Amino acid sequence: MEIRKNILPRKTLDTIQPYSPGKPIWEVQKELGLDRVIKLASNENPLGPSPKAVEAIKKSLSELNRYPDADATALKTAIAEQYGVTTSQIIPTNGADELITLVSEAFLEQGDEIIVPSPSFSEYDFGAHIMGAKVVPVPFAENFEFDVDAILAAVTNKTKIIYICTPNNPTGTIMAKADIEKVLNSVNDILVVIDGAYSHFADVPEYTEGVEFAKAGYPVIVLQTFSKIYGIAGLRVGFGIAPEEIIQSVLKVKEPFNVNALAQTAATAAITDTEHVKASREANKAGRELFYKTFKELGLKYTESEANFVLVEVGPNGEEIYKALMAQGVIVRYGKTWGLPEFIRVSVGTPEENEFFIEVLNGLLAKQA
Ligand SMILES: *Cc1c(COP(=O)(O)O)cnc(C)c1O
Repeated sequence: MEIRKNILPRKTLDTIQPYSPGKPIWEVQKELGLDRVIKLASNENPLGPSPKAVEAIKKSLSELNRYPDADATALKTAIAEQYGVTTSQIIPTNGADELITLVSEAFLEQGDEIIVPSPSFSEYDFGAHIMGAKVVPVPFAENFEFDVDAILAAVTNKTKIIYICTPNNPTGTIMAKADIEKVLNSVNDILVVIDGAYSHFADVPEYTEGVEFAKAGYPVIVLQTFSKIYGIAGLRVGFGIAPEEIIQSVLKVKEPFNVNALAQTAATAAITDTEHVKASREANKAGRELFYKTFKELGLKYTESEANFVLVEVGPNGEEIYKALMAQGVIVRYGKTWGLPEFIRVSVGTPEENEFFIEVLNGLLAKQA
């Protein structure tokens, strides 16, 4: 046992909090003995995976003895076509989560700083912490709007990365194109990561997922994922689009076979599945509207969302409401993880799931009144 004392993990690991995922359906069913459990906690596509992706995978199963294409050539070609970039400006990854880690490994030295408009996606912090870099959170302004001046004021000579998650998880708010431009034109030698995991759900005209800035040569890396609108979260595929020099640096820290063969095949098919994308967008929009209407009727404050979830203020007994929803089979995300103990974040589900959530919430709030 003496030896164990000398096997010390790196000091920076002390700064890492474990990721808290949405509870899986089976776990809640088992723990609470419920038949009907719905999960509106992880912003997954309620319509299911892209049917084109499923078909493509079925056809490729007999090839699983082969290693995947280390360059993901077919997938990169499909992405390049979709976004009007070259394949050298693209890096496919094992989910966008992996890309965040790779970007951190490629660019962050110990003591560097990253700026994160907060609350936001926790993986940015994780990437910084594994490298011994420091997270500089910048609070949102009123109604969770991005505070561009505060972001710029937080820049120091140690700032290496600015993260802009737009639409932002968990608030659903966006940074307008003009504001992104302002940030880019105000800083030098800082990598700006624009996380567009929810870009397909945004429909206001001032929105951009940022690829135009990468194309124009700004030090920008745009993150995208197949986990949300394309509905293949279980396969783990994401990608980045950036000027070639940035991609080259990130490629240095990538493992050769980071995106598995089924994921490559499925994503290559999913990106052309315009029908599934359109149906998902429309169903999501209708679901968001239904949530707004319900929250208004219940007198709850909410933030209008450009994503596939809505952040709603349920009040001082937020934790009780979160737990009571769970007890009746509705899994949502409790806001405490983001320092918002009076809020819950609810993902848009199928029409039936949305109705079930509303019915349960109505019942709970009526009991309180
Ligand atoms: C879900 C999500 C991602 C990426 O998800 P992967 O499944 O790892 O591709 C990235 N950013 C944000 C903000 C997300 O919510």
